[in-house]
Amino acid sequence: MRGRFAPSPTGRLHLGNLRTCLLAWLQVRRAGGRFVLRMEDIDRGRSRAEYAAGIFEDLRWLGFDWDEGPDVGGPFAPYTQSERLDRYREVLARWQAEAWVYPCTCSRKDLLAAAGAPHAGEEGPVYPGTCREALSHPERPRAWRFHVPRGTEVRFADGLLGGQAQDAAREVGDFIVWRNDGWPSYQMAVVCDDADMEITDVVRGADLLASTARQILLFGALGRPAPRWHHVPLWLDDAGERLAKRSGGYLIADLRTEGVAPEQALAFMARSLGWATPDRISLGELLDPRFVLRDAAGNPWPRAALRPPLSDPPR
Ligand code: GLU
Repeated sequence: MRGRFAPSPTGRLHLGNLRTCLLAWLQVRRAGGRFVLRMEDIDRGRSRAEYAAGIFEDLRWLGFDWDEGPDVGGPFAPYTQSERLDRYREVLARWQAEAWVYPCTCSRKDLLAAAGAPHAGEEGPVYPGTCREALSHPERPRAWRFHVPRGTEVRFADGLLGGQAQDAAREVGDFIVWRNDGWPSYQMAVVCDDADMEITDVVRGADLLASTARQILLFGALGRPAPRWHHVPLWLDDAGERLAKRSGGYLIADLRTEGVAPEQALAFMARSLGWATPDRISLGELLDPRFVLRDAAGNPWPRAALRPPLSDPPR
């Protein structure tokens, strides 16, 4: 069993990010698996070295440990995406040769302007397929899109949210795996890494639920089994806003400067999950199997230790 926490160093971590990390860490530690820390810094415009340093600082302050990661190495190093570009290029070349992807020269502006562009979601309109036959602007640098055939219905069982289905062709369409600036997209990098690093369980925020169908298609193109997925409902503040959208108050760095103890921050996170904890609790204490969520079927999640602790008396 191998799990991971894969933050992007595009800002400081807030309680919501860390609560997801807590759940991923508890799942791995209870199962006696290996926990991987991966730095997802391919968004070159927004990633900063000081944010990456801040992530290590925040994680250590709360007491998290990891078995593999940028600082400790491991069998699948490097664990920083910007150092893995050669690997992504290799995968792109393979997908080009196997015709999973095709070049595209449409700009975002072209797509928005295209008559009848269906719905423009967070990631832009569903691609109308312009470059599938011939490049729209052969003089421009090329991006590469993954071809999603009509009627591609992706189904999976989410460990927390239960059965999911997405009509990938209608809801997302052909999507970018390689950007025209020479970098892989998030979807591609995350799948290459989860496959290469042999991640068996992905625990992450439910804001990424809509990406999962695309990622399952990419695992298929790699010829690798997809991991089990567990999407954690987002933490909303009293006003119903996502924590991520709020600046002050919820950053770990701020709590630390205000003199809050790590055990208080952990108790706050745990209580937001509905767990009855004292005012202060350590990570080790949170390993207690009574701290569980309920999955869609009402079963405890993450499950109690798969391997009994060594101190258990023989029966
Ligand atoms: N790097 C992504 C983020 O910070 C998470 C990727 C993932 O968990 O799949 O939002």
